[in-house]
Amino acid sequence: MKTVIYPGSFDPITNGHIDIIGRASKLCDKVIVAVLKNPSKTPMFTVEERVNIINKVIEPYENVFVDSFSGLLVDYAKKNGATGIIKGLRAVSDFEYELQMALMNQKLCPEIETIFLMASTKNSFLSSSLIKEVARFGGSIEGLVPESVLKAIYNKL
Ligand code: ADP
Repeated sequence: MKTVIYPGSFDPITNGHIDIIGRASKLCDKVIVAVLKNPSKTPMFTVEERVNIINKVIEPYENVFVDSFSGLLVDYAKKNGATGIIKGLRAVSDFEYELQMALMNQKLCPEIETIFLMASTKNSFLSSSLIKEVARFGGSIEGLVPESVLKAIYNKL
């Protein structure tokens, strides 16, 4: 049974994240989408709201689950019996930070492998922060997030 963790802020989840989740679910037996509790960020959605939003979105995938965590990712991964960490790479700009994180996690826990999936072309410009910014200024974000997320964003605004 190969379990992988897909960690992130998911504030909120976008079609880019969902693409990675769908692809990871085909590669592994179990995918845990892990929402990071990060007190240094001011999010649009609370961790509980993000978990609820993700729960609806992952309904079609029977081997995908959602949870939240704080502290070291490798500790969380070990606790859940995971052998891998999934990351999405959008552009070269993601690479440097992700490489640093992957090497640090490898140092902390060599038996957990970080696996990078390239963003699909149509999602490579998508980020949660850009979507929130466009929505705040009244721009259309249709087609970039699922219907339920669209509603959640408009409710917040
Ligand atoms: P962001 O970097 O937008 O704040 P998160 O921290 O929620 O997003 O990202 C969690 C993971 O999903 C990271 O590995 C990130 O690189 C990846 N990711 C984010 N947006 C996309 C996208 N549009 N396509 C593929 N992967 C993505």
